[in-house]
Amino acid sequence: MATNGNGTTGPAYKIIDHEYDVVVVGAGGSGLRAVVGCAEAGLRTACITKVFPTRSHTVAAQGGISAALGNMGQDDWRWHMYDTVKGSDWLGDQDAIEYMVRNAPAAVYELEHWGVPFSRTEEGKIYQRPFGGMTTNFGKGTAQRTCAAADRTGHAILHTLYGQSLRHSAEFFIEYFALDLIMDEGECRGVMAMCQDDGTIHRFRAHKTILATGGYGRAYFSCTSAHTCTGDGNAMVLRAGLPLQDMEFVQFHPTGIYGSGCLITEGSRGEGGYLTNSDGERFMERYAPSAKDLASRDVVSRSMTVEIREGRGVGKNSDHIHLHLEHLDPAILAERLPGISESAKIFAGVDVTKEPIPVLPTVHYNMGGIPTNFHGEVLTKVDGDPDRVVPGLMAIGEAACVSVHGANRLGSNSLIDLVVFGRATALRCAETVKAGESLPPCPDRASEPALSRLDHFRHASGGTPTAELRDKMQRTMQNNCAVFRTGEVLEEGHTLIHDVAGGLGDIQVKDKTMVWNTDLLETLEFDNLIGQAVVTMDSALNRTESRGAHAREDYPERDDEKWMIHTLAFLDDNYKVRLEDRPVHAYTLSNAIEYIAPAKRVY
Ligand SMILES: Cc1cc2nc3c(=O)[nH]c(=O)nc-3n(C[C@H](O)[C@H](O)[C@H](O)COP(=O)(O)OP(=O)(O)OC[C@H]3O[C@@H](n4cnc5c(N)ncnc54)[C@H](O)[C@@H]3O)c2cc1C
Repeated sequence: MATNGNGTTGPAYKIIDHEYDVVVVGAGGSGLRAVVGCAEAGLRTACITKVFPTRSHTVAAQGGISAALGNMGQDDWRWHMYDTVKGSDWLGDQDAIEYMVRNAPAAVYELEHWGVPFSRTEEGKIYQRPFGGMTTNFGKGTAQRTCAAADRTGHAILHTLYGQSLRHSAEFFIEYFALDLIMDEGECRGVMAMCQDDGTIHRFRAHKTILATGGYGRAYFSCTSAHTCTGDGNAMVLRAGLPLQDMEFVQFHPTGIYGSGCLITEGSRGEGGYLTNSDGERFMERYAPSAKDLASRDVVSRSMTVEIREGRGVGKNSDHIHLHLEHLDPAILAERLPGISESAKIFAGVDVTKEPIPVLPTVHYNMGGIPTNFHGEVLTKVDGDPDRVVPGLMAIGEAACVSVHGANRLGSNSLIDLVVFGRATALRCAETVKAGESLPPCPDRASEPALSRLDHFRHASGGTPTAELRDKMQRTMQNNCAVFRTGEVLEEGHTLIHDVAGGLGDIQVKDKTMVWNTDLLETLEFDNLIGQAVVTMDSALNRTESRGAHAREDYPERDDEKWMIHTLAFLDDNYKVRLEDRPVHAYTLSNAIEYIAPAKRVY
């Protein structure tokens, strides 16, 4: 510690100051949509991203983006809403869900007009494929609602959005690592960041800070998401003394390639692919007689896990399942699923036109995250008020918990969430921020915690390398907080994950420099992950029911009386988790559709 040149004590880092109306942290689909909207509204907008924008995880999205366009048969936003509420297992906020599905068609047409090269029908309309849980007539028929650009939809959307954001005068700070929020008296005043290239420290002050930092799949050993998905924004929120919501709900995708975790889109089953066990049986017919292989992801993942646990897995160790596409027309595979055909070849050595792909349920999406309303404003619970807006702070995308996905997200509902709420957040900024208005003064003490944390890890000279602790965390989450959960397994997980967190005191960072110090960055990311792992485990232990992705063997029923409620998790000193709750918004925005009352859990 030394004086920082500003008359206060703190680590001595020279700070470069920036002032904007809005600063967006993250350049995935949600971040870029917000950037375009804010810049279009004439707000001085900065976007900070730790990777080049088009390398954000959104680029990997394959299957598509949902919207009731009705291009391939009748469709209606009310059916989309019904499916989303049901898919969320009645934990989604119905006002937010209505906002999303009603705005979805316009959001897709906007993307089309901006240049997303969607696949087309014979008549030239946007091609739409069936996806799990997407139905017509309130569950009676199968909807074709998922708009696709072959199996590279995220790639097409992200590149288009980046192109659009360059049309406006938004400023990008690429390969800048956001360290922490600048909080003063409960208000967010901006964010501190480090330029990875030269180690310079930057203070971004803004009227609004929008976190669009994505999910935290990397808390687990096997996941489909990029190495950069470490939930940095979620961790900043925890450090600011604010809660994360519904963190126990982690989605497993049924079809990660066995071994690598690389995703095979649900679109492959949408196009007619199916799963078999070691008897060659299409076992999904037993678990979900009507939806079969297109039942929602939690159902398919659990069914696969049961098959494997009961000894009907395929392979030498009977530990995975087969996904068949070889019966499909090779021309269709080449046209609609070229990306996954290539991935199967590279990661499993399989020619999809001839043999099945070995697959396994793999962590894919975090339903939990930063609680927000449908304007993207971050919420906390104060004095019994569960919907108190945190001034200056917003969150969107996988980092946020709006909550439209509740206990389980339907496939293709994330990409639409990104663009609908990215836009909603920009509209809110345009409403509440006056372009160019001067920023309130911000005391230096507000930026000091970020610098002290950086300094602490940079000089950490314990005996345990970060990689060792990370490995322990990932294995603990994979073994003790996965598809099947019991009180006993979670209790053990609670002890183990708190032990890993305790290991932070002995962490070792060898590289002390400030230029492209990946040792330091990975340590900061690990520190971000472990806080989220701890709240995920403890939230899962606390919820004594089964709902959506959270399946407790010891509490197999959904308990609406006690648990139709969001979990709020605060992280106090020494990784002590404080759990509270927040009511589910069981009301809709308009009278166009009634509140959708809980139905029995049917698989
Ligand atoms: C393989 C795969 C396939 C998928 N397929 C589909 C699909 O077909 N349909 C669908 O609806 N959903 C799909 N999903 C889910 C969906 O793609 C993601 O939920 C979504 O893309 C997340 O977008 P995002 O904007 O929240 O964040 P991301 O795209 O993850 O971007 C996060 C951004 O935050 C930045 N960032 C993070 N931390 C920091 C920091 N500390 N400092 C600075 N910047 C930071 C990163 O640089 C990045 O720009 C898929 C997910 C995966 C993993």
